[in-house]
Amino acid sequence: MRPQATLFREEKKEFSHNIATAVQSEEEEPPLSAVAEERQLFFGNSSQSWNDWRWQFRNRVTTVEQLLKFIPLTSNECAQIRSVSAKYPLAITPYYLSLLEPSDPYDPIRLQSVPTIAELSKSCVSMEDPLAEQQHSVVPGLVHRYPDRVLMVLTDICPMLCRHCTRKREWQYGGWVRTPEQFENMLAYIRQHKEVRDVIVSGGDPLTLSTVRLEEVLSGIRRIPHVEIIRIGTRVPVVLPQRIDDELCNVLSKFGPIWLNTHFNHPREITPEATRACDLIVRAGVPVNNQSVLLKGINDSVETQIKLCQSLLRIKVRPYYLFQCDDVAGTEHFWTSVESGVEIIRNMRGFTSGLAIPNYVIDLPNGGGKIPVSPDYILERTLDELIVRNYQGKIMHYSNPGNSQTRVMSEVVLKDVIIV
Ligand SMILES: *Cc1c(COP(=O)(O)O)cnc(C)c1O
Ligand code: SF4
Repeated sequence: MRPQATLFREEKKEFSHNIATAVQSEEEEPPLSAVAEERQLFFGNSSQSWNDWRWQFRNRVTTVEQLLKFIPLTSNECAQIRSVSAKYPLAITPYYLSLLEPSDPYDPIRLQSVPTIAELSKSCVSMEDPLAEQQHSVVPGLVHRYPDRVLMVLTDICPMLCRHCTRKREWQYGGWVRTPEQFENMLAYIRQHKEVRDVIVSGGDPLTLSTVRLEEVLSGIRRIPHVEIIRIGTRVPVVLPQRIDDELCNVLSKFGPIWLNTHFNHPREITPEATRACDLIVRAGVPVNNQSVLLKGINDSVETQIKLCQSLLRIKVRPYYLFQCDDVAGTEHFWTSVESGVEIIRNMRGFTSGLAIPNYVIDLPNGGGKIPVSPDYILERTLDELIVRNYQGKIMHYSNPGNSQTRVMSEVVLKDVIIV
C-alpha cells in the first residue's frame, strides 16, 4: 500500500475516536485547526487554504488519475470509472474525500462519491426525470406543484456529485446558473401568485453561489410581502462545511425566517467541521432539518439510521424526511424495498426520541408528490373503537371519543328522551 494511504488509515482511526468523544463532551473536542491539519496532511496540502471553501471547490477531485492518489484502484476499476464518468461525471471535495476509508470498497463515504459500473445498468423502470420537474415548471427553474409553495432551481452546480442524485441526468450538460433575468421571471410569477407563502431555494446547491449573489436572491424573495418563509436546500454542511462562514450567516440572519434543509446520510459525515457548520447556521436563527435518502449498503439498517438520527439531534439538526430512493436511471444499485424502509421506522418509533424519527416518504413518479409510508399501528377501526398495536407489539383497544357520527347519534337519542 502506498505510504499516503497508510498514513491516512492511522489518522482515520484516531480521528474516528475523536469524533465519538467530541460529540459527547464538548471539552474533549479537538481544536478544529488540529482536525484540519490532519486532513490536509492526507491530501498532501500544507497551506492555509484547506479551510477556504473556494480552494476546496477549485481542488475537487474530478479525474481517475487524481482519485488514484487516494484510493487503490485496479486498472479495470480505473477503466470502469472512466466510462461511467463520461455519462455521470465525478466530483469530490478534498474534505469529503478525506472522510473516506481507502481500503474499504464498501465504505459509505466512498459509495456516495466514487462512481461504480453499476450506474450504467439501466433497467426498464428507471427514468431520466421521474419527478417530472421539467413538465411542472411554470417558468424556467420554478416548480409549482403544491398549492402554497414553490421550488426554485437556481443552478445545477454542486460541490460534490452524489452518486444517488435524482438530478444526475443533468450533470453532463452541467455548470449553469440562472441568469438575473430568469430569476426576475421567477419572482414575477411568485408576485402574481399570492397563494405562495413558502419558497424553496434549491438546485443543484444554491450555496455554491457567491454570498453577494445569494444576498440578492434572498432579498428579492423577501421583498414579496406574501412570502412567509424561505427554505434553502443544500448539502454544503456535509460536503463543504467550510462554506458556512460568518459572512454567509450574516446574510441568512438578515432575511429570515429562513429554514435550511440539508442532507446527511451516514453518521460518519457528522464530523467536527459539520458540527461547527450547523452550529453557526442555528446561531444565525435558522433551524436546520435533514432530508436523507435510504440507500442500500449505506444506511439501510436500523442501527445506522438510529445512530445517524441521534447524532443529528446532538448537533441540533432535526431529521425531517427519509426518502425512498427515486426511480432515477443510474441509481438502481441503491434501491431498497419499501418494506425495508417501513421496518426501519417500526424499529425506531418508541425505541428512541420521537424527534429523531424522520417521515419516511416516497416522492411519486410523474409529479404525484410526496406520500408518507409508515408502519400500520391500527389493525382495525370501527365507529367507536380502534384496535392498535403498540411499539412493543402489544395489541390494545382504544375507544374512539371524537367520532362525530357517534356524537350526533347520541345527541338525537338524548333529545328524543327529553321530549318523551
Ligand atoms: C418536496 C417538494 C416541496 C416541499 O415539500 P414539503 O413536503 O413541504 O417539504 C415543494 N415543491 C416541490 C416541487 C417538491 O418536490
Ligand atoms: S447535493 Fe443534492 S443535488 Fe447535488 S449532487 Fe448531491 S444529491 Fe444531487
